[in-house]
Amino acid sequence: MKDARNFYINGKWVAPIDGRDFPVIDPSTEEAIATISLGGEQDTDAAVASARAAFPTWRKSTKADRLELMNNILDVYQRRADDLAQAISDEMGAPIDMSRTQQSGTGSYHLKAFIDALTDFGFEAPLRAANPDTRIIHEPIGVCALITPWNWPMNQIVLKVIPALATGCTMVLKPSEQSPLSGVLFSEIMHEAGVPTGVYNMLNGDGPGVGSQLSRHRDVDMVSFTGSTRAGKAITIAGAETIKRVSLELGGKGANLVFADADPKAVKQGIIRCFNNTGQSCNAPTRMLVERARYEQAVDEARAAAEATSVNAAAEAGRHIGPLVSEMQFNKVQDLIQKGIDEGARLVTGGVGRPEGLNRGYFVRPTVFADCTNDMQIMREEIFGPVLSMMPFDSEEEAIAIANDTDYGLTNYIQTTDPERARRVARELRSGMVDINGNARGSGAPFGGMKQSGNGREGGVWGLEEFLEIRAIGGWPVD
Ligand code: NAD
Repeated sequence: MKDARNFYINGKWVAPIDGRDFPVIDPSTEEAIATISLGGEQDTDAAVASARAAFPTWRKSTKADRLELMNNILDVYQRRADDLAQAISDEMGAPIDMSRTQQSGTGSYHLKAFIDALTDFGFEAPLRAANPDTRIIHEPIGVCALITPWNWPMNQIVLKVIPALATGCTMVLKPSEQSPLSGVLFSEIMHEAGVPTGVYNMLNGDGPGVGSQLSRHRDVDMVSFTGSTRAGKAITIAGAETIKRVSLELGGKGANLVFADADPKAVKQGIIRCFNNTGQSCNAPTRMLVERARYEQAVDEARAAAEATSVNAAAEAGRHIGPLVSEMQFNKVQDLIQKGIDEGARLVTGGVGRPEGLNRGYFVRPTVFADCTNDMQIMREEIFGPVLSMMPFDSEEEAIAIANDTDYGLTNYIQTTDPERARRVARELRSGMVDINGNARGSGAPFGGMKQSGNGREGGVWGLEEFLEIRAIGGWPVD
């Protein structure tokens, strides 16, 4: 069993001061594979003090210094990408091939985009040509606490650590206690890449412990958080005492609007997107709204696509989906599937229990519900499992109204071959992101939501701006 108890503080691996042991469980086997330590208040204080001490120097580092460090990180990251993929697969159950391409792959993708964004970023400029003596200066906000979840561990760590570094902030990362092994490896990468002492610190811990200690800490200037809306609210309240900036990337309940003229593969693609990462993505298209003329055909296509989805252990090669991350998530998803049946949705395929032949591990049956109504719990709550809820609509206006009738506003999806309609509907959907006909957004586009999906924007220039203070100086001497 791996011992991963140490924390990375002040440029060194150190033993916890007041930590307690916590097992890392392989969700495919339900067996413990490593032990970490959940830090206590003294560990949190030591990590924050290290970041605070490093801030005055790192704040003054040049763009060239930061770009050099980011390029070093990218080199080491790419060399260790396979180790990261293995760790993520072991700790949260991403099938190994998917973990290599998607899970660990997102880290280098975002690193490259941040290198491009920083290269072009101007930290200082006159207000406008007519006011050359009013200087606008972008400065690092200070010490940042970065709190990340388990579902896309490297994606979320890189989207926070790299822009914090790029803007001259210092930081304390607390990865999810469900997926800490990739966070430990990432810290080894940072060390090998030559991050200056104290600029980057990492400790493990849970929400009520290190998570809330960081959120209310007097020496933390900003919390950047990705995870549940529940924890996002708690962090906002904890941070209010010291007026911290709190950047939130929370849950979603994305609608996928399939119009009758959509591409013939649209429903199948919608299932693949919904079930990717075993449905554990905040931006998953989990509500499929289908124009009535195509509805019954779509239900059949969804059934076929779900039944063609194989489920297997994370260690197996291939294109299957893996288990859910934990027993808690398994029970939550089972309860919600049962709730869907009790509320009267039509169970098209799947249901409660494990898939045939898998008696151990947090495996769930790929499930499709049809004839849902938007007041059902399975249409309102983030399920975070391979579960799709379908519902018909009669008009474009109705489809937009159903899509927007949610507490969330992260990503919505449109499937139509009518370009006019695609533009019209995209403008009306109340979400930070919209995907039309399965087209990905360009690298460096901002990722983030509206309403209870949060207030942050990650990636590219917008991801840098999150970590900056904007200052205005009048009477700036002009030569
Ligand atoms: P969570 O929000 O509880 O945990 C995410 C991170 O926040 C972890 O590092 C955790 O230790 C920390 N945390 C938890 N409570 C905290 C608190 N009060 N103060 C400070 N930090 C705190 O998420 P979870 O328990 O891992 O998953 C529960 C649900 O959250 C999922 O079912 C899913 O709906 C949602 N979720 C969303 C995303 C997303 O990307 N939007 C990611 C993971 C989970």
